Amino acid sequence: MISDNIAKVENAIQEHCMKVGRDSREITLITVSKTKPVPMLQEAYDAGSRDFGENRVQELVDKYDKLPDDIRWHLIGHLQTNKVKYIVDKVYMIHSVESLRLAQEISKEAVKKKVTVKVLVEVNIGNEDSKFGLPKEAVIPFLKEINELPGIHVEGLMAIAPICENPEENRMYFQQMKQLSVDIIRENIDNVNMNVLSMGMTGDYQIAVEEGATYVRVGTGIFGER
Ligand SMILES: *Cc1c(COP(=O)(O)O)cnc(C)c1O
Repeated sequence: MISDNIAKVENAIQEHCMKVGRDSREITLITVSKTKPVPMLQEAYDAGSRDFGENRVQELVDKYDKLPDDIRWHLIGHLQTNKVKYIVDKVYMIHSVESLRLAQEISKEAVKKKVTVKVLVEVNIGNEDSKFGLPKEAVIPFLKEINELPGIHVEGLMAIAPICENPEENRMYFQQMKQLSVDIIRENIDNVNMNVLSMGMTGDYQIAVEEGATYVRVGTGIFGER
């Protein structure tokens, strides 16, 4: 049952918060619903989920129209500039900003629609060729390039850690993300917040919680295999 799975994940989040002395209210569980049909999302909604993560623009827009409007939609997948216009006024947050061109496009469309879009900068924390995101060394210079863009507000960082057998292997990456956010706060860049660290998925969210995640993105652990 979806509601049981959500409860299990919420309980695990609490347990791992306790272990490191964190308040579990600092953490939001994002229900990653990509590829799943609307009735399953409705079931998660009925069980209390309000934050949903999708990785494709078209799918997010379709589901947006069919589900309650108090859902906060998170675009967590790679975003092409030509699709930005379809979602700027629908998403709660875009987790995958990683180029100046994309940031400029979001800014342009946000201004046009008179909204402010919350964004996260995606970091390729494992330096993997297969992944999007900036190398961590590039993040501070990038923030200084985009922080003055109108209609866009940086709320924090996002990372997809490498696939691993043992989630402990990813602990160091989560620690590096936390450290990077601390370094950014020290830079005191105007218009840049570091309230959000979006990291941890089904296989490793417990470790991410222990290391400072404020959003965890869980799909398989709630809906089963895709
Ligand atoms: C699919 C996806 C997730 C969820 O992955 P699970 O392993 O199913 O929990 C999280 N984040 C991103 C960016 C994803 O694309």
